[in-house]
Amino acid sequence: MPFSLSHKDATCEQESCWAPTTGSQLFCLSHLKQNQAKILKLYRNIHTRITKTDPADWGKFVKLLKKHANKDDNCLIKIKDFLSVLAKFRLKLSDRQRQLIQKLYRVLYIADPGTISVQQIYDVEKQLEKNDIYAKI
Ligand SMILES: [Zn+2]
Repeated sequence: MPFSLSHKDATCEQESCWAPTTGSQLFCLSHLKQNQAKILKLYRNIHTRITKTDPADWGKFVKLLKKHANKDDNCLIKIKDFLSVLAKFRLKLSDRQRQLIQKLYRVLYIADPGTISVQQIYDVEKQLEKNDIYAKI
């Protein structure tokens, strides 16, 4: 597990929440889940917008992310590189969205500041397929 550091006595980053954080996360468990769901929804929106004209564009997007990602682990990318890949697809995150992604998916074991994990983006299509299967049943 990458999150081995523990922040004792830390409280949730969510406004007006004073619950303790969970593990080395910056949020309490319920806000962690809530915020992760929010970002997953954002990633699905990104998927919808990128594949709007051509479904094959998603593959191009993922390929480009991996190209700019960490050489040892292509799930890790600097936030500025993530934003520039999004910009190539004419997508832009709000400051709030960017900050939330950084808080949720910061990588503690990498010295590079501003590195995030984008594993969730790579998994978006798998998730959507799963939903399709469920929808058909
Ligand atoms: Zn909280």
